[in-house]
Amino acid sequence: MIRQNITVLGSTGSIGVSTLDVIRRHPDHYQAFALCAHSQINKLFEQCLEFRPRFAVVRDAALAAQLAERCRVAGLSTEVRHGVEALVELSSCSEADAVMAAIVGAAGLEPTLAAARAGKRVMLANKEVLVMAGELFMHAVREHGATLLPVDSEHNAIFQSLPADFARGLPACGVQKILLTASGGPFRTVALGDLEHVTPEQACAHPNWVMGRKISVDSATMMNKGLEVIEARWLFDAPPEMIQVVVHPQSVIHSAVQYADGSVLAQLGKPDMRTPIAFAMAWPERIAAGVEPLDLFKIARLDFFEPDFERFRCLQLAYDVLHAGGTAPAILNAANEVAVAAFLEGQLPFLGIARLNEQVLQSLSAGPEGSLSDVLGADTEARHLAAQLIRERSFA
Ligand code: NAD
Ligand code: MG
Repeated sequence: MIRQNITVLGSTGSIGVSTLDVIRRHPDHYQAFALCAHSQINKLFEQCLEFRPRFAVVRDAALAAQLAERCRVAGLSTEVRHGVEALVELSSCSEADAVMAAIVGAAGLEPTLAAARAGKRVMLANKEVLVMAGELFMHAVREHGATLLPVDSEHNAIFQSLPADFARGLPACGVQKILLTASGGPFRTVALGDLEHVTPEQACAHPNWVMGRKISVDSATMMNKGLEVIEARWLFDAPPEMIQVVVHPQSVIHSAVQYADGSVLAQLGKPDMRTPIAFAMAWPERIAAGVEPLDLFKIARLDFFEPDFERFRCLQLAYDVLHAGGTAPAILNAANEVAVAAFLEGQLPFLGIARLNEQVLQSLSAGPEGSLSDVLGADTEARHLAAQLIRERSFA
């Protein structure tokens, strides 16, 4: 049996840890080839001890030296590298069969794009890649014959509900609508007036999912659903009008596809990311993921609501940038990353996230999404402006 070598970008994060749990359950089929993290070297060292990867990657040379020394003392042959170049190399080198893209934010763009350009099986959790550079990334996937498998639970559900040959075009497949479900986050029913003063802890307490802090805040503003609308636009070549957000607080239906004959096909499951991760790892086969079976009798009822675009301004902004096109989504993504980080550090009120995003979008003009450097240029400019507005406290 040949084992698949997997590079895990973001191995110490929520998705990374779930990915390693699926690998742990199937040691005959999968091998952690490279484990890549930012700065949590204690956790990364523990992972190296258990999974014995060929490579480990951290942020900088100093952390790499520390980790390398610990690996040496423990008798591990893991080679420790650092920086973006190492991430790019270990995502594209010939020994890596598959890449789990689970870094949070724009930092994942370059290695994930490198994996696509090297024709890998790319398991994509890092939705910001498609938000920033959807056109470039999808072009690289097609040009280099990469196999792109969505890990984001909604997009994984849509992928499962579409015919295998959906790339010939959604209308040709009889698809009328993509029904992108959203839990609505922890503040769906909180009075608008009370939202100004919610804390990072309240924002990160998602009713159904346990996730990293950035995506948890994005879920609370529904920016996450906005990013997912953009993600769906690129993954499935779906015009924005075809993507309908459906608020479904129980998160049992992970998304659905509506067809011309009146059929609606959906994927249901427990809110456990190991299901889409295992799907992406094994496709077109199925493997056990350690996830409890869904008990429909216990669930008993499912609710659905239309999204409130007034309450969740960020969701509207996502549709706006999709219509604007070019680097507008990259600008929104960058502003939002800065805004969320500032909120988590107590420098911005919760509702300030949407206000800051809007102000940055209004102040900068988007250009075409020509090359990676155009995208990175727009990203940098938006980050600078967002940071400046926060310093000056001059956003409306
Ligand atoms: P997290 O914060 O738990 O983990 C992020 C990981 O990225 C960590 O391993 C961290 O070390 C690494 N990282 C951060 N910055 C880095 C940098 N500059 N260079 C290298 N590594 C870096 O995040 P998460 O919740 O696991 O989410 C990861 C991605 O998956 C995000 O894009 C998120 O939107 C997406 N996603 C997550 C979930 C979920 O349930 N957690 C669901 C769907 C999609
Ligand atoms: Mg999702």
